[in-house]
Amino acid sequence: MKKISDLHIHSRYSGGTSNLINIQKLAQNCRIKGIDIVGTGDCFHPLWLKEIKLHLDEDSDGLFSFPSISQVRFVLQSEVELLWKQNSNLKKAHFIVLFPNSDKLKDVSEFLASFGDMNKGGRPVLNISPEKFIISMNSFDKMIEVIPAHIFTPFYGILGNRLQFESLKEALGEGINFVHAVETGLSADPTMIRGILELNNLSIISNSDSHSLYFHRLGREATILDLNRLTYRDIIKSVRENRIVKTYEFNPSEGKYYYDGHRSNRHRSNNSYFCSPKRNVIYCPICGNTLTKGVLSRVYELKDTEMPINENFQYIIPLLHLISIVYGGSEYSNKNLSLYRNIVEATNGEFNIWENAIDFYPISYELREAINKIKSGNYWFIPGYDGVYGKLQLG
Ligand SMILES: [Zn+2]
Ligand SMILES: [Zn+2]
Repeated sequence: MKKISDLHIHSRYSGGTSNLINIQKLAQNCRIKGIDIVGTGDCFHPLWLKEIKLHLDEDSDGLFSFPSISQVRFVLQSEVELLWKQNSNLKKAHFIVLFPNSDKLKDVSEFLASFGDMNKGGRPVLNISPEKFIISMNSFDKMIEVIPAHIFTPFYGILGNRLQFESLKEALGEGINFVHAVETGLSADPTMIRGILELNNLSIISNSDSHSLYFHRLGREATILDLNRLTYRDIIKSVRENRIVKTYEFNPSEGKYYYDGHRSNRHRSNNSYFCSPKRNVIYCPICGNTLTKGVLSRVYELKDTEMPINENFQYIIPLLHLISIVYGGSEYSNKNLSLYRNIVEATNGEFNIWENAIDFYPISYELREAINKIKSGNYWFIPGYDGVYGKLQLG
């Protein structure tokens, strides 16, 4: 069976997140949107974990669900930030961790507490190398899965520009033997990963990294898994065995770290600057400091071969975002939200509009035109850079 998963989100305890996020709302919104399997986010955080345990039932297969919303299963998940010294430099990188059940999570939490502050933020910051972290997670339980998060992003991606590793093997050491998948992140797509030969035996997953429970954030990237059974074990096995049916992707140029650049609030003049890697500009023409190098530049540095064209993925635009572009107003306006809900109710989840014909009420002619333009690639972005999202331009 095919199930749509989003295995990397955050709770309201992580920095920069919406304080409206709660378990019941997450379950409801995943159901409405059509996400079958979602990460809990921040499962190390004691207050969030308390809510998880209070509101969700844990089944014997390691999945959790809200009593009246059994279509949506939760997986215990957190992002961790690791901090370590390597090649006489301080390195920082983000990893997703998935747990087979709450007992294992408890054991691991106690172990990791001596490496950093687990309670400080939703995302623990731990003084431990990825090699040691990954190997110790595997020795706790072979079903704990560690996945390098948004691998090319400049500041916290394991292959990002700031870390300056030449390979995943160099970054992870022997830990690489227990890594089975990488996450694309919003500013990259599977072709960019497949241009790097070292990564070719790894599965590619895509997740939203959502900091909110709104419909244009949750599931903005997602992965369709082919499962035999709806269990934690089979979810992990499908990732490890590359039973990835396909991923739904942001177009990378929409991501916040695609091009090289400096965002406006770095400058007194409030002007921003961005350029493609082909321009080969290192210093900002406005302030003279080094530009934040984007994912595209980094991939050009790392790639071994031309990026393939035929990977199994599809670019999408969150429907609510598209509605707000077509009709004006924000993604939070009641008018846009109610149209969104009417459409996804009629299609049984948002992802079906990207799979099936959309010639039905309440999708208007204008919106249908916009969706078809996205499906056929008749659009472009003013690219994202240095923390600024790309801006969609319909053709
Ligand atoms: Zn992250
Ligand atoms: Zn600048």
